[in-house]
Amino acid sequence: MRYVLRLILLSALLTWLIACAPLTPQPQPGQAKLRVVATTTIVGDVVANVAGDAIELSVLLPSGADPHLFNPTPQDVAKVSQADLVFANGAGLEAFLDGLLESAGAKEKTFAVSEGIQLLESASHAHEEAHSQEGEHSHEAEHGHEGEHAHRHGEGDPHVWLDPNLVKVWVQNIARVLSEKDPQNASLYQRNAEAYTAQLDELDRWIRQEVEKIPAENRLLVTDHLMFGYFAQRYGFTQVGAVLPGFSTLAEPSAQELAQLEDTIRQYGIKAVFVSKAVNPDLAQRVAEDTGVKLVFLHAHSLDQSSPANTYLNLMRYNVSAIVEALK
Ligand SMILES: [Zn+2]
Repeated sequence: MRYVLRLILLSALLTWLIACAPLTPQPQPGQAKLRVVATTTIVGDVVANVAGDAIELSVLLPSGADPHLFNPTPQDVAKVSQADLVFANGAGLEAFLDGLLESAGAKEKTFAVSEGIQLLESASHAHEEAHSQEGEHSHEAEHGHEGEHAHRHGEGDPHVWLDPNLVKVWVQNIARVLSEKDPQNASLYQRNAEAYTAQLDELDRWIRQEVEKIPAENRLLVTDHLMFGYFAQRYGFTQVGAVLPGFSTLAEPSAQELAQLEDTIRQYGIKAVFVSKAVNPDLAQRVAEDTGVKLVFLHAHSLDQSSPANTYLNLMRYNVSAIVEALK
């Protein structure tokens, strides 16, 4: 009898021990999550889709901010210096980035999601490429990511996200970097990346259908600055001109350049000037009034939670619908 009692006590003790000391250590809720900072709301949304709840994400730029002109605050510097990982668009979009990373000592932990995308270059930079021996060589190795890496230039067009097929490259990059930093959740990141890629493919199919509604001769884009290069290339538009003659809103047009743009608008029978919500519309407004064409606002650089453009996928749908409406 004493033996049976001892056995019962022993098994109760064992049960208690097992319950108290799990064999594998469980992560504490709210602890040990990767602290990630994304620069723009659009980068942040794509990171959130890949990471789900597995990371602690904060986004640097407020809704509606122009990433070309953004000025980080001391709080932004602190946020970046405390982060485990920083995701930026890269490709020269965030003019503030180098200074910020230097102040925060954060160069090592920063990753450009556009890494590996071959950037479009303006005509004035194309000749530099032709002169470059290295440029010639890297063309041969272009199939791999390493080869394309050699093509990156600060002066290229940074607006890669306006082609959802290039956001698929972001998704791969984000999933890879998160998995390296946080291998325990690698399979989660991979699954989320695949699911979001399927949504990007669906968006691409939808855009192709919508663009069909615009007569081919009307597929001409005039914008506030040159932001639709990748979109135009993918969906068969021509980017005829821009009020600010560059890839950044830092560019300033001369009176002569503005007059030329107005001539072009009249000559091609352009139906609308498209302006990014994040950008000062005054000059574009003047061009639209001078030429008698519509001014159409798009959400090109930032999500806006109080508008239909509250996610990247919805932002693209909003923009495409507005373009189709204006040009069909
Ligand atoms: Zn821009």
